[in-house]
Amino acid sequence: MEYNDSETARELAERARAFMDEDIADLRGEARERDLYAPQISEEHGGMGQDFRDVLPLFEQAGRSLLGAPAMRVDAPDEGNMHTFELVGTDAQKQEYLNPLVAGEISSGFSMTEPLQGGGSDPKMLQTTAEKDGDEWVINGHKWWTTQGSAADVLLVMARTNQEAHPYSGCSFFLVSPDMDGVEIVRDIPHVGPSMVGEGHAEIKYDNVRVPEENLLGERDQGFQHAQQRLGPARLTHCMRFTGMATRALEITKAYLDEREGFDSPLSEKQALRYEIAEAETRLHAVRTMVRDAADKIAAGEEARIEVGMSKVFAANVTQGAIDTALQFCGANGIGRDLPIADFYEAVRAFRIVDGADEVHKRVIARDAFEDLDEAELEAITRYDE
Ligand SMILES: Cc1cc2nc3c(=O)[nH]c(=O)nc-3n(C[C@H](O)[C@H](O)[C@H](O)COP(=O)(O)OP(=O)(O)OC[C@H]3O[C@@H](n4cnc5c(N)ncnc54)[C@H](O)[C@@H]3O)c2cc1C
Repeated sequence: MEYNDSETARELAERARAFMDEDIADLRGEARERDLYAPQISEEHGGMGQDFRDVLPLFEQAGRSLLGAPAMRVDAPDEGNMHTFELVGTDAQKQEYLNPLVAGEISSGFSMTEPLQGGGSDPKMLQTTAEKDGDEWVINGHKWWTTQGSAADVLLVMARTNQEAHPYSGCSFFLVSPDMDGVEIVRDIPHVGPSMVGEGHAEIKYDNVRVPEENLLGERDQGFQHAQQRLGPARLTHCMRFTGMATRALEITKAYLDEREGFDSPLSEKQALRYEIAEAETRLHAVRTMVRDAADKIAAGEEARIEVGMSKVFAANVTQGAIDTALQFCGANGIGRDLPIADFYEAVRAFRIVDGADEVHKRVIARDAFEDLDEAELEAITRYDE
C-alpha cells in the first residue's frame, strides 16, 4: 500500500524493515551502523534529527518485533520522555538526562497515574503534592503503573503545585532519582503482557522526597499542558508500533493459511477466513491513513486532539482485533510461543487502556461531535401537538 509519505520517510521505513527481517546480534550497535538509531531526536542530542512525520512509518516497522523499538531507541516510555526533555528541558537537564537517555546509557519512567482514588482516567483527581520549602520542593504521593519505574535512573513525577488553580491545571513535573531519600519502589505489578521482554510497571511511594528547584521540568503549574505535548505524538507512535505488530501477525497468518491444508484444500481458500483477513487489512489501512492525517496536522503546528484521540481508539481496537484473528487462524501455533503472535496478543490488550482508555477518548470525541448542532436539521421532525 502506498501512503503520502515523503521520500525520506519511505527510505527510513524500508531500511528499518530490512533491519527487522535480518538476524541481528547486537541490536543497538547494529541500528547505529545502519543509521536507524534514535531517528526522532535532534542530532545535537545524539539522534538523527528527522522530522516527526518522516519517522512515523519507521515506527510501524519497529513494531514488527518486540525488540525493534528498543533497538532503534524509539521505545516507550523513554521515547516520550526524551521528547519532553527536548521540548521543555533546560540546557542543564538536557545535558544530564537527555543525552545519556538517547545514548541508551540510562532509562526513565513517567510517574503520573495513582491508585484509587488518585489520578487515573480523570487527571484532575491527582493527589500527589509538591510543596516549596526554601530552595527545594518536597514531594509526597503514591504512584503506580510507572513503566520501567523500577529500573529507571530518572522519574518524571507529576505533582500538584497549586491547590488554588483550576483542577485541570496547577500541576508540575519533577525529576526524581530513585535513590533519593523517601523514594520507595514498592513492587513491579504482576500483569498481562509478553513474558519475553520482561517490561515492568512499578508501584512507587514518594515520602517527603526533597528535590532542588532545578529539578522542576518545564514550567511550574503547566504539567498538564506538558503532558498533552508529550502524549499527542507519543500516542501516534504507539499506534504505529502496534500497527506494525498486527501487520506482522497477519503476514505470519497468511503464510500459515496458504500452506496448511484441511478439508481437501488449503485453509487460505476458505472464504470465511479470506473475508476476515480482508476486513483486518482494510481496517489497518484505515488506521495508517488516520495516523498520518493526525501527524500531518501536528507537523503543521495543530494540537489535533480529536484526530489523535480517534486514531488512538481506532488503532487500539483494530490492532487488537487483527491480532486476535491471527491467533485464531494459526490454531495451536497461535497460542504457542514459537511464533510471536501470543506475545503480541498479550501486549496489545493494554493498548486500549494505556495513554487514555477508549471511553475517555470517546468522551472527548463526543464532546466535539456535539458542538455546533444544527437545529435546522430538525425542521422535518413531527412534534407532539398539544
Ligand atoms: C501496561 C500499562 C502501562 C502503563 N504505563 C504508565 C506509565 O508509564 N505512566 C503512568 O503514569 N501511567 C501508566 N499507565 C496507567 C494508565 O495511563 C492508566 O491505567 C489509564 O490512564 C487509566 O487509568 P486507571 O487505570 O486509573 O483507570 P480508571 O480511571 O480507574 O478507569 C477504569 C475504567 O473506567 C472506564 N472509564 C473511565 N472514565 C470513564 C468515563 N468518563 N466514561 C466512561 N468510562 C470511563 C474505562 O474503561 C477505564 O479503563 C499504564 C497502564 C498500563 C496498563
